[in-house]
Amino acid sequence: MGVREAWSSHETWVFECRNCSTYWKEELEVRHCGDGHGNAAVIYERGGHPCMTPWLDRSCPRCQSQNVKALSATRGEKEEIPKARGGEDVAMVFHLRRVHAW
Ligand SMILES: [Zn+2]
Repeated sequence: MGVREAWSSHETWVFECRNCSTYWKEELEVRHCGDGHGNAAVIYERGGHPCMTPWLDRSCPRCQSQNVKALSATRGEKEEIPKARGGEDVAMVFHLRRVHAW
């Protein structure tokens, strides 16, 4: 049984609109794939669909400006985020999405 270098993690991204200073937060599913030669590919998924890297296709939910700064809140962490602790955050993000009708 071979070892496949593929795993998933959650990343929380914080976005800031440079135009109106709105902050918001999104959680993305990140699929990491290694080819066994030290190369790695990362695929971001949002709502089960692959999406562009989070810092490329965002626009402000308030003013629609695309002058948005993205900050990864979890990038660089070696350990996976405990799923049990993320439940409330996910619910909150889902609520925010409904509020903004994303
Ligand atoms: Zn804005």
